[in-house]
Formats: sequence, structure tokens, C-alpha cells
Amino acid sequence: MPHRSTRPTRFVADAMLGSLARKMRALGFDTLYYSAGDDDGIMRIARSEGRVVLTADRSLAERARKGRASVLLISGKSDSRRLVSLLVAAKSSGVSLARGGPLCSLCGGDLQRMQRTDVAGHVPLSVERRHRLFFKCVECGQYYWKGSHWKKLRRLDRILAEVPVATIF
Ligand SMILES: [Zn+2]
Repeated sequence: MPHRSTRPTRFVADAMLGSLARKMRALGFDTLYYSAGDDDGIMRIARSEGRVVLTADRSLAERARKGRASVLLISGKSDSRRLVSLLVAAKSSGVSLARGGPLCSLCGGDLQRMQRTDVAGHVPLSVERRHRLFFKCVECGQYYWKGSHWKKLRRLDRILAEVPVATIF
């Protein structure tokens, strides 16, 4: 079989899945959060941008399927359960998953690695002293560091162990 490059899977999450959408970005999936909440709008974006719809709404999932949009029905009360249900749904509906590097959880922008000297004045002094590795979003300017939030993400990251990391050219 010829070698094929993969691209990170792109998603559009419905209004009920904002918290999952933020974590999906940090986990390396280009995920748009569609907060407006109308079914037609989210399906239009899914089709025009090649995004997989993530929804916890059974009737939207049904409509998306009929409208030939790729869709994963998400269940669960915590983001880790939602992530597990995403994997199960992807497998059963033949949606292949691939992820890229971590993205800004607020806006989906790329993250740039920063040195401690670069973040002085931008993060709390206690954070600056305790951490060595920092990132800054090139789009919105949000700073990130390996703190407690990071540990939570590591747990979610383990759920995704079997999802390949995309090769991007
Ligand atoms: Zn950002």
C-alpha cells in the first residue's frame, strides 16, 4: 500500500461541548466550538470545512448523518468519558482519527515554546519561579505552562494512546 500522509482530524463541536472542545485543542485536534447552536449552521461548517460534527444531541446526529455530514455522537458526564465515547463512536462509524501538536485551548492557535526569561511579567511570579517550560499562543497571546492543568490533560492524553499523530507536510 502506498504511503499516505495524514492530516489531523478537524472537528466542530456543538454548543453543549465547549469544555470538551477546549481539551480537544490542547490534545492536538483542530476543533471549532460552534456556540450559536443552530443545526443548519453547524452542518454547513462541517461540510464546507471538512469537519466532523461532535454532538451530544441525538437528533442533530441523526440530521447530520442524513445530510451526509460526518458526525460522532458523544455521551458521558465528564470530559474523559466523553473522549472515550468519541473513540468508540469513531471506530464504529469508520471515522479515522489523527492528531497534530497541542493547540491553544482557547482559540486553537499554534503554540510557541518560550523560555522563562521571555515570560517574566506575563505569568504570576510564583509560576515563573516554579516552572521551566512555557508556551505562548501565536494567535491570542495566552501563556501556558506545565502545571496542574497539564496533569489533567496527561490523563486524557493516555486515553488517546492509540490515535496516531499526523504527519503534516
Ligand atoms: Zn490562543
